[in-house]
Amino acid sequence: MSGSGGDPGSAKPGSTAITTEAAARRPILHLPLPERVAASLNDGIPVVQERLRDYASCRALFGRLGSDGAVKLNGASYYPASPEQERKYCGRGVSAVTTVGGSAVFLCRSFARLSGQQAAIILIHEALHLAGQTEYPASPEAPDSSAITEMVMTGCRLF
Ligand SMILES: [Zn+2]
Repeated sequence: MSGSGGDPGSAKPGSTAITTEAAARRPILHLPLPERVAASLNDGIPVVQERLRDYASCRALFGRLGSDGAVKLNGASYYPASPEQERKYCGRGVSAVTTVGGSAVFLCRSFARLSGQQAAIILIHEALHLAGQTEYPASPEAPDSSAITEMVMTGCRLF
């Protein structure tokens, strides 16, 4: 999802948004994550680590991009989505926003409602963007958000 693009009706709880706006690249260092968003993050990260450790098919999602999932996960910084990002991208199933090739992941307030497994799916999806995975419609040739999430669920055995 790009916030405005895509079919809102097809958005599912695993969807995320990509933004190319400068505002999204600027870390919001002075804002801590809301407590429940941080709790979901803390539940999800160990699941991601376990899946990357246990499943070659999960590591391969990063390998095909010439990247390493564990390195990308460790290099990611998590910030609360700004009010503007919340307004423009979050909602309708979108729970995180990131930039391709960046290191910052912006978590929507709705991220707080995810289970550890659901959070793990989103965290891997976002880490793939950090590793260079592009997404339709921002990149016309690329898979859309749902297709990337499906790859994550299948490759990392998260259902
Ligand atoms: Zn995405």
